[in-house]
Amino acid sequence: MAETIYDVAIIGSGPGGYTAAIRAGQLGLKPCLIEKGERLGGTCLLVGCIPTKALLFNAEIYDHLKAGKEFGIEGTDGAKLNWATIQSRKDKIVLKHTKGLEFLMRKNKVDVVKGYGRLTGPRKDGVLTVEVQGGSGVKAKNVILATGSEAKMLPGLEPDDRVLTNIEILSLKSIPKSLVVVGAGAVGVEFASIYKSFDCDVTILEMLPRLVPLEDEDLSKELMRSFNKRGIKSFVGAKVEKIEKTKSGIAVNFTPPDGQQQRVEAEKILIAVGRAPNTASVGLEKTKIKAERGFVYTDEWMETAEPGIYAVGDIIAGFPQLAHVAFMQGMVAAAHIAGKPARPLNRNRIPNCTYCEPQISSVGMSEAAAREAGRDVKIGKFPFSANSKASIVGSHEGFVKVVADAQYGEVLGVHIIGPQATEMIAEAVAAMDMEATVDDLMFTIHPHPTLSEAMFDGIENVYGLSINI
Ligand SMILES: Cc1cc2nc3c(=O)[nH]c(=O)nc-3n(C[C@H](O)[C@H](O)[C@H](O)COP(=O)(O)OP(=O)(O)OC[C@H]3O[C@@H](n4cnc5c(N)ncnc54)[C@H](O)[C@@H]3O)c2cc1C
Repeated sequence: MAETIYDVAIIGSGPGGYTAAIRAGQLGLKPCLIEKGERLGGTCLLVGCIPTKALLFNAEIYDHLKAGKEFGIEGTDGAKLNWATIQSRKDKIVLKHTKGLEFLMRKNKVDVVKGYGRLTGPRKDGVLTVEVQGGSGVKAKNVILATGSEAKMLPGLEPDDRVLTNIEILSLKSIPKSLVVVGAGAVGVEFASIYKSFDCDVTILEMLPRLVPLEDEDLSKELMRSFNKRGIKSFVGAKVEKIEKTKSGIAVNFTPPDGQQQRVEAEKILIAVGRAPNTASVGLEKTKIKAERGFVYTDEWMETAEPGIYAVGDIIAGFPQLAHVAFMQGMVAAAHIAGKPARPLNRNRIPNCTYCEPQISSVGMSEAAAREAGRDVKIGKFPFSANSKASIVGSHEGFVKVVADAQYGEVLGVHIIGPQATEMIAEAVAAMDMEATVDDLMFTIHPHPTLSEAMFDGIENVYGLSINI
């Protein structure tokens, strides 16, 4: 039998890889998906987005139960967590969706090959070969590299039962009594939020001057206020000097901005200081692919400097490491390989979402970035405390902040902290994508009573015309 030559071989089955594989199949290409792990889905499905959001939902329900009295529901004060059930529910959700991916691969005629994939060099006789450990090579006209990322560790540390990354912390045998989180980006604040809700004593240490340092400054301030209120001990501008094991857990020496060294002890420590691209041993050096610190450069169609080799997802230079970025890059690469229309990603139209309590979301420029770029800006801000749906759901924290161009009303950025912020941001992304102005959105009818009205009020407030404040 003649050897199969695929139209595209995709290395890695995370959001970037599986989306590219499905879209390639839908567009009539013959795809092959190579995955080194046991299951399909990558970081996002197996040890990232999905399991964390499952736990966050448990945390939310538990918080509501603890506040039962306020809603006229008696007897919920003593609600107890059943950790085994919480874990198995999370695992079932993950399993359901990884099986869903296996089904989608069959549906879209994607051949799945298990093993570690490596590039072997440029095209020979029109064909690229991916070496797969433990198997024969996969031949394809094009390759998409979608190998994702893994948690960075601090020097001298290795993950174990006390020093955790996103992987270990998702399968703890019991809820720790105390936890130190190093890093206050999305991963760090989400786990801090989860475990605080689960009655764990949480301390968060961030080296930069604020929590969620990539967000608009006002959102960082509001999160700090909220975390302090919840009893999450949050230190920013904190330099971690030493992490050592103690008899029963770990101890961290750190220096906050006041220069007075402090020591905190806890049962566990989560290291959430960023993610490194998985490109060290995939054979980049055998190609013309350009990379810096492991992050790969591509053109707007996700093609690297090596003709026929594309790259998507967390390994891409200059893009945020987010599942929805990987999804879209995968779709763009597959469409481009199929010769079908696609639209390059616009770096400025990518929603950022952090699912801690209170939730955070944003798109476009922060106020500071817009001012730095020399824009004459007008700000519209609307607090959830004045939104009737927020009163109904008993969640009054936070606000919507709109950054707009003063002259033309162009929406430059939208920043939300508060209830369902991560659901609400899609409207802002769509509006900005369609180049809607503040004036357009002021005449867009929003349903009542909804949280999305806070977005409407925020928009109106750019002109000082919000009805509700
Ligand atoms: C705790 C946590 C929570 C997160 N929450 C969110 C969220 O809520 N929303 C969001 O948008 N993003 C979230 N992210 C980020 C998101 O998970 C990543 O951006 C996304 O998974 C990147 O997709 P990817 O396809 O590039 O890579 P990955 O998902 O990392 O998948 C890469 C795959 O490639 C495989 N692989 C690697 N090398 C090889 C090889 N040589 N051969 C074969 N297979 C290989 C790996 O086994 C893996 O399956 C979260 C991340 C973490 C850690």
